[in-house]
Amino acid sequence: MKDDSCSTCPTKSSCAGGCQRSEAELAEMYDLEADMSEGHMIWVELDYTEGNPTLKDVSKQLLGKARSFDDQRVIGILFGPESARNAAREAFSYGADTIYHVRHNSFTDFHLESFTAGLTAVVERVKPNTLILAASDEGRELGPRTAARMGVGITADCTDLEMDKGVLRMTRPTFGGKLMATILSNTRPQMATVRPGAFPLPEVEEGRRGTVINWPMNPAPSIEPLESVAAEEGACLTDAELIISVGGGIGNLRNLEMAKEIADKLGAEMACSRNVVEKGWMEQDRQVGQTGNVVKPKVYLALGISGAVQHQTGMSGSQRIIAINNDPDAAIHQIANVSIIGDVGEFLQRLLKRLDEEKAAEI
Ligand SMILES: Cc1cc2nc3c(=O)[nH]c(=O)nc-3n(C[C@H](O)[C@H](O)[C@H](O)COP(=O)(O)OP(=O)(O)OC[C@H]3O[C@@H](n4cnc5c(N)ncnc54)[C@H](O)[C@@H]3O)c2cc1C
Repeated sequence: MKDDSCSTCPTKSSCAGGCQRSEAELAEMYDLEADMSEGHMIWVELDYTEGNPTLKDVSKQLLGKARSFDDQRVIGILFGPESARNAAREAFSYGADTIYHVRHNSFTDFHLESFTAGLTAVVERVKPNTLILAASDEGRELGPRTAARMGVGITADCTDLEMDKGVLRMTRPTFGGKLMATILSNTRPQMATVRPGAFPLPEVEEGRRGTVINWPMNPAPSIEPLESVAAEEGACLTDAELIISVGGGIGNLRNLEMAKEIADKLGAEMACSRNVVEKGWMEQDRQVGQTGNVVKPKVYLALGISGAVQHQTGMSGSQRIIAINNDPDAAIHQIANVSIIGDVGEFLQRLLKRLDEEKAAEI
């Protein structure tokens, strides 16, 4: 805040103390309301399933995105025991400059109360410009709680983020997915939760280094978890390269079985529109769209899907979209790279026959 043209201060090296200017004059010289917050903070989620903690893909995606914003510091905050220190190295290779390691032996599990207290304390100390969390089950709880604790706003479930001269432009579907809204925050840190899969995985920069700041913490939760029961393994659509997705036009369970058989043969993941979930034909964790998964496969084969905007929100980032729909005016054809106007059942029968013939020819 040094001003060389100012001769009021005896030392001319600092504006602290001895200044005879009035408050109004100072306010005119310096923007006292200016936002001094700096750096982009990412809550780094860890995966303990393989023993040694590693970064979840969504955290890598968020670190990479924050790195691409501008030249401000990328600060990661992770919770875990001593062994989580290794994950800090991984975070550096995905773009973090500094890692706050909030440490306690019990932090291999998610503790909502302790994580909220730890995150709030670190954010109040560091004062980052932005604070971004994954819209994971945990992030969806931790983000809003932390925002409420600090009295700041949060934009939940974003599908895109952009940084414009320090202002975070947070985009998310609104009005039942009919519109995409870009939201700006007038509080700091600017907070957002972002859907897994919204951004690509960044390139790994092996050997990239940074600073680890230890933040020991003694949790005093009012709730003590007695037992953790692992959920049944669900769909893993966000990393899939080939997705066969079925919509209302699949028509019957026989066609659905054919689609699954083809997916098995091609090593593809099965997905669906909400229509199919509502019929009870597939589980919700297979749904693609605004209230489902965001996917970016190399190929997205859409079978009997109309292409409603809520569905497109989850799959329009696919590299190649192949649509089979008997209505030439269906919205899916507008975004497809390859459109087949025809009957899904007939298409599936032909494809299955072709795959079987190819297999027979190999033998
Ligand atoms: C708040 C909100 C959130 C939502 N979130 C989601 C979401 O996350 N994901 C999602 O998918 N939807 C979502 N929806 C629902 C969405 O608006 C659509 O209703 C839904 O995507 C329609 O699914 P569909 O295209 O499979 O079915 P339909 O609308 O029934 O379309 C079926 C399509 O198949 C074609 N077809 C029919 N028979 C055949 C045949 N024999 N051969 C070839 N083609 C055929 C038809 O021409 C039609 O285009 C949401 C809606 C709201 C309001």
